[in-house]
Amino acid sequence: MYHDYHLHPLAYAGLVTGLDLMDAADLGEVMARVSGHAEKVDGAIIGQRLDDEGVSERRLPDRSEIDDVVSDRPVLLYRHCGHIAVANSLALSLAGVDTDPDQPVGGSFDTDTKGRATGVLRETAIAVVSSALAPQVIGPTDTSILRALGSVRGMGLRSMTGIVSVGEPIWCGVPDELEVLCRLAPELPLDIDVLVIAPNPAELADAAEKIRHTQGRVTFFGWKDFADGSFGGHTAALHEPYADNPDTTGTDRLDPEHFKTMARASMMLGGSVAVHAIGDRANDRVLDVYEELIGMGADPSRLRVEHASLLTDPAIERMASLGVTASVQPSFLASEAEWLGKRLGEERMSRVYPFRSLLEAGVPMVGGSDAPVESPDPDIGMNAAVERPGFNPSESLSEDQAIALFTPPR
Ligand SMILES: [Zn+2]
Repeated sequence: MYHDYHLHPLAYAGLVTGLDLMDAADLGEVMARVSGHAEKVDGAIIGQRLDDEGVSERRLPDRSEIDDVVSDRPVLLYRHCGHIAVANSLALSLAGVDTDPDQPVGGSFDTDTKGRATGVLRETAIAVVSSALAPQVIGPTDTSILRALGSVRGMGLRSMTGIVSVGEPIWCGVPDELEVLCRLAPELPLDIDVLVIAPNPAELADAAEKIRHTQGRVTFFGWKDFADGSFGGHTAALHEPYADNPDTTGTDRLDPEHFKTMARASMMLGGSVAVHAIGDRANDRVLDVYEELIGMGADPSRLRVEHASLLTDPAIERMASLGVTASVQPSFLASEAEWLGKRLGEERMSRVYPFRSLLEAGVPMVGGSDAPVESPDPDIGMNAAVERPGFNPSESLSEDQAIALFTPPR
């Protein structure tokens, strides 16, 4: 029986019950699914797993292409990774975004040659739009959420570290995730250690308090933050530019002072700290902050790096000597094999997802799916950790090592 160390339970339920754009052949099919979904549900339309690498056009749509199928209701379509989204014109106008938009810290609105927002939202720009349309989002019913979570039991999962957000609404169409999770806690089909995405210490403390006073299968586990974005969206923060986009090295989302304040707040509440870091630059920056926190007395076993995808050799050594945990998602390999080489180039491809190097260096490791980004089925992750299709085979794990990644903490 397995534990998934990184799963977004309500976003997953939202995906199962909502609009899934995965495996659409082209943008025409994407738009047909959007308009078909609009006929079935009320309120704002939230879609997931838009895949610009999978459609024949090999690009994201823009606002006008969505407007052509739905213009009278706000539409927000999330890219596969969740770090990029595309909005229609109504959604943009609800958020007050049009020509020469104010660019948020840690994110951006794409604009055309006239300075008008194209509808493509990167990183923190997504929350600007999603929070504006959150009141119009009608989430899935309690029954369908419980059914979706019950389905992961059938895959062998009995518990998870579940990531839920407060204050940063909707990813897969479930507004107020913590509220919903606590309401359903007594009926949950599995135990959930809850990592909370919260914007400030007060909201984190409220969330911890709320979880502690909830009867049922939820436990407060700590705070989750982001240091960068994704390879797919060219927003993972790299030391050197992207091989297929020399103009960018990705997006830094880490504010070290805010991070330290939040990390200390989480540990004071008895919680852990988990930070998303994919690119080698993001990982180095996170380790700088972790080193400082450990120097001030933080317990390294409570500090996790989520994904830890691209690491330099010194970063692996540093993780080992600090005793910081790498929380890895081997199923990413299976879905990124076709295009990741374009982004990273040969040298970086040889050292991405260095599972064996991490283990051999002595870095504590746990495994997860990041569902709904990937399937929550742990077999897919364990197989990918062993087989590494399309990736450096010398970083393969043995079957036992792969199983150990998904072994419950208790
Ligand atoms: Zn995640």
